[in-house]
Amino acid sequence: MKTNIIITLALLPAFAMAQDKISVLILDGQNNHKWQQTTPVLKEALEENGVFTVAVSTTPPRGAKPEAWESWKPEFANYDAVLTNYNGEMWPKAEQENFDKYVKGGGALVVIHAADNSFGKWKEYNEMIAVGGWGGRKLSKDGTWLHAVDGKIVRDDTTEGGCGSHGPRSPFLVEHIDTEHPITKGLPAKWLHAKDELYCKLCGPAKNVEVQGTAMSPQTKRNEPMLLTISYGKGRVFHSPMGHDVEAMRCRGFYELLQRGTEWAVTGKVVKTAEVPADFPTADKVTPVPAP
Ligand code: ZN
Repeated sequence: MKTNIIITLALLPAFAMAQDKISVLILDGQNNHKWQQTTPVLKEALEENGVFTVAVSTTPPRGAKPEAWESWKPEFANYDAVLTNYNGEMWPKAEQENFDKYVKGGGALVVIHAADNSFGKWKEYNEMIAVGGWGGRKLSKDGTWLHAVDGKIVRDDTTEGGCGSHGPRSPFLVEHIDTEHPITKGLPAKWLHAKDELYCKLCGPAKNVEVQGTAMSPQTKRNEPMLLTISYGKGRVFHSPMGHDVEAMRCRGFYELLQRGTEWAVTGKVVKTAEVPADFPTADKVTPVPAP
């Protein structure tokens, strides 16, 4: 009996600490990007400060038989946040419904780069991400472009055109047009992001979306959204069109915004991840995060 009590007490601090952490489930398994390389970086970026714990749920590969999907049953509700690094085939109906129920019911969703290419025909998903690219999306039927002019968001540009484009990869300047949002507050308002694809011409329903940061696209000559927050039902969504590959992600700016965006999506605040890293990028110098 005495032994049992000692063991229980010894486990308590570890249990309490685990309870304090924000739990995140990363979804991957299909992507036209190298998810096998980027998921570990996303996991590491979230776990480096001890604020988050990360689990990964990997779908069957593209072309898998329906039976293979029967064993993919992620328990979204067991996590504080779900991060999608998935760009692939439609999920089974039950998982679509569970996912929608999770976010609508107050869950937190984080969307990285090509995950906003996914599910072009899934109405609810497009509302969650506000805008996306490719995936059969067409401006004329799927909503509006979203960009910024002089720091003001334009959300009613329905000029004809395709959805989703980018030029050659390059470092680019991210500008925070909302410096009072918890995600951006206290950070330098302009910082140089590591070599990445600068997504432009993202389109979608663009409902209940705010843009905190943009980058000037050499292609469209517009300030394209790079940091977006969306409310969907009772849930909060943080959407980063940045993050093409490992090099793009291994950027101190990307790490910091990912941590802050995830915490915000869970709590609506940025407290645990608010400390500004000493090596946060300046407007003219990229700060790579070295591999561990
Ligand atoms: Zn890409």
